Amino acid sequence: MSRSELAAVLSRLPKVDQVLADPVLADSGWRRTVIKRLVGKALTALRDRVRAGDQPQIPDATGLAASVRATLDDWSRPRPRPVVNATGVLLHTNLGRAVLSAAARKAMTDAAGPCDLEVELDSGRRGSRFTALQPLLRTVMQTEDAHVVNNNAAALLLACTVLGPPGGVVLSLGQMVEIGDGFRVTTMAGAGGCKVVGVGSTNRTHPKDYEAALRGEAPGCDGTAASAILWAHRSNFEQTGFVREVELPALAQLARTHQVPLIADLGSGSLGGNLPDTEPTIIEYLEQGADLVLCSGDKLMGGPQSGIIAGRADLVHRCRRHPMARALRPDKTTLAALHATVAAHAREGRRGLPLYEQFGASIDELRARAEAIAETMEWSAATSIVESRATIGGGSLPGDTVPSIALRVPSVRPSRDARRLRTGEPAVVGRIEGDALLLDLRTIDPGQDEALVVALRALVR
Ligand SMILES: *Cc1c(COP(=O)(O)O)cnc(C)c1O
Repeated sequence: MSRSELAAVLSRLPKVDQVLADPVLADSGWRRTVIKRLVGKALTALRDRVRAGDQPQIPDATGLAASVRATLDDWSRPRPRPVVNATGVLLHTNLGRAVLSAAARKAMTDAAGPCDLEVELDSGRRGSRFTALQPLLRTVMQTEDAHVVNNNAAALLLACTVLGPPGGVVLSLGQMVEIGDGFRVTTMAGAGGCKVVGVGSTNRTHPKDYEAALRGEAPGCDGTAASAILWAHRSNFEQTGFVREVELPALAQLARTHQVPLIADLGSGSLGGNLPDTEPTIIEYLEQGADLVLCSGDKLMGGPQSGIIAGRADLVHRCRRHPMARALRPDKTTLAALHATVAAHAREGRRGLPLYEQFGASIDELRARAEAIAETMEWSAATSIVESRATIGGGSLPGDTVPSIALRVPSVRPSRDARRLRTGEPAVVGRIEGDALLLDLRTIDPGQDEALVVALRALVR
């Protein structure tokens, strides 16, 4: 394009003031500076494309105003957006892990306003945000003391920063777990300056490997004995074959002999109930001799994103008083939801905890719901209802699955239809298995069955 042609195209771009004056923006209720920035960015992008030799459609002022308005309308919707989890993964990390109970949701909303977070209403004196939860948490976890932080990564960071230096923590190479998004146990443990001394090998680690580090003789010790033992749960993988790990009770023995604390990063802390007993409970890990256990509040505990440091009172106290604890402390809505969740664990049947209800639903219940949906959709039950396997997910119980029932969406292009369901209203996230688009009933809240039908009707229309 010649210079003059370029200038002619650029001159057809609408003027900022024209776009701003368009009624869809003028009456939008958004601040003028915000709108102006969006308009400016859209015009710059168009200019750049024209200069680069593209031939973009040049919108008029109304057209550009409409597209900016669409962005503003999109920003007006609550985010993250609610979705129907039809994946069959109960604790789906990317879908927000644990689904909170009705009681936890209510507690969060109530605490959103003014609340007695740090005041003793009785005396009117300043209090601690943890006072109300601690006795309940200690009782349910059967532990001397417990402290709450933002997530399990924060628990790991805090415990290792407080207890690791000067010699750092010793960790088996077989437990150097990478969790989601590229984060590793070793780097999280070391982020506060604690050295992580890896010992053993990928598949086999022996007591003598730990002993060498506890005497300061392992490679990587630089002559200083390790100050704590770290044991990390292999949350998301399994090892088979020629493997050996030192079990927790034997590590506890070593820890006592060398007078160092044993920190167990459980990732997912189970409090028992009807969940698979392949995963020991937090209480069992403490009984096996862990001085501190670290766990997440939003995995098997079924609560809000949070992390718990539980165990020996003197060690928990040191964590609580470290300056870093202030940077990792949870907010009032998290504490409120966690309180409601822990209280549910203290009650018979753990009623109201969605994770437990979803996990405990019988195949007959799931099948009946699938049949009702298939009938409404006028789908043949014979072809649209299939047996499935749900997983717990969320870095817990790798390899464990639960029998389930799924709806097989009649579809000629499953991946296109999966996308249409994800971007529909309500958004439904299913799973593709082979050439089938499956919607697993076990992870769908029964209260969402009707919304699912709305989404399916929109899909087949
Ligand atoms: C999940 C997990 C973490 C991180 O927990 P967040 O609550 O996501 O921060 C750390 N360690 C292990 C072993 C885990 O499974």
